[in-house]
Amino acid sequence: MTYDRLVCANCAAPVSEGRCPVCRANRERLQQGNLFAGLNPTTLIALLAVLIAAVALLAHQTA
Ligand SMILES: [Zn+2]
Repeated sequence: MTYDRLVCANCAAPVSEGRCPVCRANRERLQQGNLFAGLNPTTLIALLAVLIAAVALLAHQTA
């Protein structure tokens, strides 16, 4: 699992570029996720989905 191909739900740029605070937060979280490298990839994907959903919700509420 790498985060290189993930696209930010906030700025639509690759998260790895860290263009916005959401990207940087996600990137840090994912890098910290290396601690959980032994975890099931499905768990990581589920966590990511929750994150992206939360970001989308926030963006929707502030729009
Ligand atoms: Zn972003």
